[in-house]
Amino acid sequence: MDKGMATELVDGVFLIDSGMVRIGLAACYLVRRGDLTAIIETGTRHSVPAIMSVLSQLEIRAEQVDYVIATHVHLDHAGGVGLLMQELPDAQLIIHPKGARHMIDPTKLQAGTTAVYGEAAFQEMYGDLIPVDESRIRIAEDGDEILLGGKPLKFLDTPGHANHHFCVWDEVSRGFFTGDTFGIAYRELVLEGQPFIFPTTTPVQFDPEALKASIGKLISMKPERMFLTHYGMVEKPEQLAPQLLEQIDDYVALVMEIEKDMSDAEGLFESIQTRLTEYTLERAIAHGCERELAAETIAFDMGLNAQGLVVWSQRRSAANQ
Ligand SMILES: [Zn+2]
Repeated sequence: MDKGMATELVDGVFLIDSGMVRIGLAACYLVRRGDLTAIIETGTRHSVPAIMSVLSQLEIRAEQVDYVIATHVHLDHAGGVGLLMQELPDAQLIIHPKGARHMIDPTKLQAGTTAVYGEAAFQEMYGDLIPVDESRIRIAEDGDEILLGGKPLKFLDTPGHANHHFCVWDEVSRGFFTGDTFGIAYRELVLEGQPFIFPTTTPVQFDPEALKASIGKLISMKPERMFLTHYGMVEKPEQLAPQLLEQIDDYVALVMEIEKDMSDAEGLFESIQTRLTEYTLERAIAHGCERELAAETIAFDMGLNAQGLVVWSQRRSAANQ
């Protein structure tokens, strides 16, 4: 999958690589049904040229794009929304009720992310966020639907990775666009057709019980496939869900064990990151992955997951005081 090339996965569902950091890290999707088109996930503002180039390959004019949808407002999913909405003059943005204000005024979102990465890295990775006019935003509550060429896309509230997260059910493909709710499965670690899947617990709203409930909610629709943002289509989701649930439970147990003999946050992060990486590598090797490739592929996410678990740990200890 090259940057700027569309790959049709299944009836009218195309994958577009966002080009963020490397090929194969973050996907965007284009769904075409009849005369209607939706873009699901935008990558960052640097991803917008790739999306525009795919539209022109498919002979879809900018004015013919009806919807831009971001599963949640983390910037690998929604960072490109503002610029993309400028390029697509007739599109409506569909977003979770808790994400809308950050799209109308992205100042806080940008400041929060800059605080984590620093100004220079923020600019290189994401670039300034562009606000979206409120009149172009449509909020999707749990269960809301839109019709795309007469076929429904349905929005389900799926907290756990973030409170501002929904997943999008596509009745035609019987698939969900899962954002980060159904974890991560990079193409490099697919062996004999079997993806290696693991949860994402990015800061700052990870909630294990809510995430497990959301995964259950997705599976209750009996999906045949999932379109992951990280990365691409996976099939037989009912066989992957137990692997995610088990890992979420193991994450919680691992953090609670480390908490017992830890007092400062600095030590907590390092211990969690080390143990989480060991734990996940062991699973990857049992899956058949080669250690070095697996270690390299998961390293960045293990850091993010550890940060998210530290925030979760601190939130729990604050609630218990
Ligand atoms: Zn993500």
